[in-house]
Amino acid sequence: MAELTPERRSEGGRLIERAHEEIAAICKDGPSRWRMSIPAQPDRDSDLILSAGLKAGGDLLAEVERLRAELEAAREMIGDALVALPGRRSWEQLRDDILANRKARDEAQDLVGQRARERAEADRRANGALKLIEKAEAERDDAEQAARAAQAHADQMRAERDRLRTLLGDMVDPNPCTFDHHGGCQEHGYLSLQPGEKCPHAGAKEVLALDGTEVDRDA
Ligand SMILES: [Zn+2]
Repeated sequence: MAELTPERRSEGGRLIERAHEEIAAICKDGPSRWRMSIPAQPDRDSDLILSAGLKAGGDLLAEVERLRAELEAAREMIGDALVALPGRRSWEQLRDDILANRKARDEAQDLVGQRARERAEADRRANGALKLIEKAEAERDDAEQAARAAQAHADQMRAERDRLRTLLGDMVDPNPCTFDHHGGCQEHGYLSLQPGEKCPHAGAKEVLALDGTEVDRDA
């Protein structure tokens, strides 16, 4: 017989269920519930409802038998094929091998998944390290910029100092100080110098005398 379609299997189940309901109704209401009519009404007549349920059960049983025969034939064909192969495994051995292969495949997939998770974690850590490096580089760039600004400021200060020394050198009187008996410098007009105070021209000459060594030291 032809293969039962999913729709016919579903319809068969419905017809069997309908027959059960009809029997339950007859048991509940008594023999008077038994209905038969002329002309026949398949959806209402008790005999037709029960017959349809029984026929559907028979169809499903036939389907089971057909499938069992197909299964046996398939096993025989597989068995014949196995005999032709090296190792001559039985149908049962082949089944066990297939199940073992599926288990191994599932385990391998689990392992692949685990490796993927581990790699994602490693990527995450690497990204974290890269961010730290970028932050450190930014801080280094900031420090370099600050150092360049400080260097520029120092260069500017040095240029100003050299300019002031040049001006001071032009203004200082080359003649030596001549002191009176009060300690004042007669030559340059600083007459009220206190003990320990120097004539500014003498002090300027001392500063200018340091010029050469200081420039050498800063260079
Ligand atoms: Zn003086």
